[in-house]
Amino acid sequence: MTVKVLFSARAELWPEYRPLLSKGLLDAGLDFDLATEIPPEKVDYVVYAPNGGLSDFRPFGRLKAVLSLWAGVESITDNETLNVPLARMVDHGLTEGMTEWVVGHALRYHLGMDKHITSQDGTWIPEAPPLASQRRILILGLGALGESAARALAALNFKVMGWSRTQKNIPGIKSLSGTKDLKQALSQAEIVVLLLPETPATENILDTQSLALLPQGAKIINPGRGPLIDDDALLAALNSGQVGHATLDVFRTEPLPPDHPYWKHPNVTVTPHIASETRPVTAAQVICENIRRGERGEPFLHLVDRDLGY
Ligand code: NDP
Repeated sequence: MTVKVLFSARAELWPEYRPLLSKGLLDAGLDFDLATEIPPEKVDYVVYAPNGGLSDFRPFGRLKAVLSLWAGVESITDNETLNVPLARMVDHGLTEGMTEWVVGHALRYHLGMDKHITSQDGTWIPEAPPLASQRRILILGLGALGESAARALAALNFKVMGWSRTQKNIPGIKSLSGTKDLKQALSQAEIVVLLLPETPATENILDTQSLALLPQGAKIINPGRGPLIDDDALLAALNSGQVGHATLDVFRTEPLPPDHPYWKHPNVTVTPHIASETRPVTAAQVICENIRRGERGEPFLHLVDRDLGY
């Protein structure tokens, strides 16, 4: 039987994904129809991105699964018209990119690079930075992205603490969970990296109270999602010096409005949601593997728990 796969993402992605998905489905031995337009009642799988324009799944009577091209699924988890399995994207290429971005920004802070890049005024202060083994970094979220970043930082000898909903056993990482652990970890963290999903339980995880626990001058790196941070609380902490600097890639409103105080703040670096992205070559393999599994009656990979919201 022909498997009907609807590609519902930004139109400009189609020329790149089309041959990759076609090859993957062929390699999986499937007879398929892959298109950007298929009558909804005939669709078996939707390859989905939130900006593809699809939000009402009611007409999709024989849908078997929705396969997200995005790792973050906060915009679809509470969609009541969706009653089939939802898989999120765990893509090797996306993970690699995020790890590089996090390590780069952590090293910027650790080595104090700005001091030398922005000020070449003839002052000679020969102070070498400490070793990574003397620097404590806390990663909030030890999932596909957080674990990879944590491992890379640990490989550089940083003292890495990781906090997640469930306890992990990852060599070289101090794994923590629960509110008490979080408070303790925050009180020691010189650099905090946010790689949590956006859910009701994680919103404003960095607020006035939690920011106050950090050692004075701590640095924040947020490639997770904007709502993980209470923006007013962060701005106040930056203004008081409680937080030394923040590198923010994600925001409650994107693009970040031109008049937002983050743009002008001397101790904030704004990056335009580029920490990483789904890479078509590797992502297409993940999508095709899930369609193959669906057709063989095997469990899907990377299923979202709609109750937990990630
Ligand atoms: P995962 O689902 O693999 O990992 C999420 C992690 O967060 C898990 O360790 C999970 O714990 C933990 N977590 C979730 N809820 C809680 C909670 N209430 N308390 C404590 N820990 C919690 O996601 P990924 O690693 O793939 O992605 C993380 C986020 O990164 C995405 O949701 C997305 O928002 C963002 N992202 C940003 C990109 C960018 O370019 N800026 C690109 C891609 C993703 P447990 O392991 O116990 O389940």
